[in-house]
Amino acid sequence: MLKKILSGGTCAKCRLCCVFDRYDIWETPVFTEELRERISQARPEVRFIPKDGGYILRAEEFDEDQFFRCPALTDTGCMLGDDKPFDCRIWPYRIMNVGGRRAITIASICEEMYNRPLSQLTEFLKEGLAETIFAYADEHPEIIKPYYEGYPVLMFEAEG
Ligand code: SF4
Repeated sequence: MLKKILSGGTCAKCRLCCVFDRYDIWETPVFTEELRERISQARPEVRFIPKDGGYILRAEEFDEDQFFRCPALTDTGCMLGDDKPFDCRIWPYRIMNVGGRRAITIASICEEMYNRPLSQLTEFLKEGLAETIFAYADEHPEIIKPYYEGYPVLMFEAEG
């Protein structure tokens, strides 16, 4: 979904958005029923918690460096391929509830995107991505996260 501004090669070298520490564990993606089943078939030991119609991971095991790896992450990348959760397809853009209003923010941990001019990040949203995100969130409100301090707000949803 972000291929126009973020190359697959850059993401493949990084994978930071698929590994979480104790402070950003809330950032793990929300899975649909279908994706939950696909992961469960490959990794039956993985536990999920229902969340507003979707599923989030029960993060029980952190590695020796205190990181939790998404169980869909393999040595060759995400086992879900192009079907990965919507959360992952728009990352580092996030949709959050900011004071009762939906807004699109950006995660600073993705240096590749965060270092772009703000104008470029918002322009891409205006070209249709924002509309796609808000429309998806209408159907899947479980992807809307509470506002987390430090995430710059790029765009509020239009009122009315
Ligand atoms: S579902 Fe795939 S892309 Fe999303 S965090 Fe897990 S491994 Fe990464």
